[in-house]
Amino acid sequence: MSSGDHAGKRAIPKGFDYGPRFASPVNSPSYEWRDDTQFLQVTRGCSHNGCRFCTFFKNVPYGKVDLDEVEFYLKFIANGDKNIPVKRVFLQGSNALHLSYDELMEIRELVCKHLPNLESIGSYGRISDLRDKSVEQLRALHEAGYNRLFFGVESADDNLLALMNKGYDSAELYEAGGKLHESGVQWACTIMFGMGGHGYGFGHAEKSADFINFAQPDITGSVSMTLVFDPFTKMYAPLHYAVERGEFVEAGEVERYEEMRAFVERVNADTLFTARHSTLPKGLIAALPDQRDEALAAIDKIIGEADEVEFKHMRMHVPKV
Ligand code: SF4
Repeated sequence: MSSGDHAGKRAIPKGFDYGPRFASPVNSPSYEWRDDTQFLQVTRGCSHNGCRFCTFFKNVPYGKVDLDEVEFYLKFIANGDKNIPVKRVFLQGSNALHLSYDELMEIRELVCKHLPNLESIGSYGRISDLRDKSVEQLRALHEAGYNRLFFGVESADDNLLALMNKGYDSAELYEAGGKLHESGVQWACTIMFGMGGHGYGFGHAEKSADFINFAQPDITGSVSMTLVFDPFTKMYAPLHYAVERGEFVEAGEVERYEEMRAFVERVNADTLFTARHSTLPKGLIAALPDQRDEALAAIDKIIGEADEVEFKHMRMHVPKV
């Protein structure tokens, strides 16, 4: 696994067929895997498909799923276990929020038609998916049920956004973050530690913390950049080959936690900081800023006990299913 936007649980659910219902392994934040939540494919692949650390969705061209097909799978879901009413749908596709406001509203109508107990719709999105959406439209989507949306921000440092070919810069990030905050929708994002490589310093941590203070996501997740072979797409990320050529030197394990420490130290926004991801050998969770001291003490303990070889081994052996 080597991704940030899609930094959650990624697997083929038991009893589900990888196709035709899903074009790629089901992918969502791990907290979305609840009995009353169903996954619904509305787009395939990634509209950007260019981040240098990512292997996800590379074998599936971006495209929209026809509404007839969406409805077909909604009927399939509606005919499932009647003892567990479906209360939430998490859209599938790298970034279903790339769909237009009108398309998202059409999908919402269909979902509500077939799943009468529905309470909310979640999705991954790219920051660039907000280009064509106003604050008023985001508010309307929220009022219509879209909530707990998830964006792989990764960094607010322009050097790193360009280096990793994220497809947006910090100016666009601030504009999008401002829209999300103003709209009132609950949202989460990830920050990726180790993104600048060995010796990059704390510019990424500081700039990313400043963005979090500005945009105030409800949840700020963290991941550690990890370049491993992807068994689903059967490839390494482009950055892996840059490492092999000696053009990029990966950050050490302690360096990554030092970067996390600098980030946590600077966050003043009310946000739930979660560092519990399979790419993080040791995890923590803290309500910032109130639990900052506890979080810093936990990170210091991790740094004090860190073993570079053991931590790297743990990070690289990310569970694949
Ligand atoms: S937005 Fe970037 S990280 Fe997310 S799937 Fe697309 S290429 Fe990968």
